[in-house]
Amino acid sequence: MDVYGLVGNPVGHSLSPPMHEAAYDALGLDARYVTFEPPADEGAAAVDAAATLGVRGLNVTIPFKQDVVGAVATTDLAATIGAVNTIDFGTDPPTGHNTDAAGVVRALEHHGVDLAGTAVVVGAGGAGRAAAFALADAGLDIDVANRTESRALDLADDVVAATGRDVAGHGLDGLAALVADADVLVNATSVGMEEDRSPVPADALHADLAVLDAVYDPIETRLLRDAAAAGATTVDGAWMLLFQGVEALEIWTGERAPVEAMNTALRGALSSQ
Ligand code: NAP
Repeated sequence: MDVYGLVGNPVGHSLSPPMHEAAYDALGLDARYVTFEPPADEGAAAVDAAATLGVRGLNVTIPFKQDVVGAVATTDLAATIGAVNTIDFGTDPPTGHNTDAAGVVRALEHHGVDLAGTAVVVGAGGAGRAAAFALADAGLDIDVANRTESRALDLADDVVAATGRDVAGHGLDGLAALVADADVLVNATSVGMEEDRSPVPADALHADLAVLDAVYDPIETRLLRDAAAAGATTVDGAWMLLFQGVEALEIWTGERAPVEAMNTALRGALSSQ
């Protein structure tokens, strides 16, 4: 039996086990997906232990995504983002990937979104970095807007250096004007999780926009409701979560992921939370 898993702290409410085990069932793989919760300063040690124990692949979540960068050989994309969320132990040394980036692009592509023009990424934390690098790599120009403006400016500099795309950083003051001219909008802040609030003024949203909200709990956020009312294409955060898992599974197994089975399991687990 092959063992895959998730290392994080906490991992108690993770949606990844049902999503990945649905894939193993659909593909007829003899595999299990388990969660590991080491102490917060033991992320790199947990990766070494997993390698010793013969774990085939690990997902990595908060607070370890940055810590494990030094414990594996990273892809160029994971190195530039500065975070690893997927480790493949099938290579020597193990390879660290960032599939949150692929999750953003594949979620938008799955909804028929044309990846061209300008994207506004709101947020400059882990999800914001993944979204900005992924969309710049896909060929879009990027405006990053963040509550702490200096983090947006730093992220913009990093993306320009890595991709050569047209990328600018901003605070939140001019967000409405940026969104009015944009083709794609990604909310990569946690706004909308705890309260029914949107990080973007509703009257800035428009019908030519595709909106991806990284927040997946709740699934239907205030931003997505406002976007749908404005006639925009909407993509909820479960699609991003799904496709980061799809990408990880494909890296680990070399098989084409059973997207429908994984999506059904993920949404079932989300609705019973
Ligand atoms: P993070 O690294 O902690 O970054 C949080 C971001 O939210 C920062 O840009 C922060 O701005 C901003 N923020 C927090 N509170 C805010 C407020 N009240 N007003 C405006 N901005 C605020 O977190 P993360 O890992 O990037 O996660 C961000 C969100 O994405 C979370 O909801 C997470 O669940 C979601 N996510 C989803 C997926 C998926 O697969 N769907 C994957 C990863 C993350 P400052 O820099 O000013 O603090």
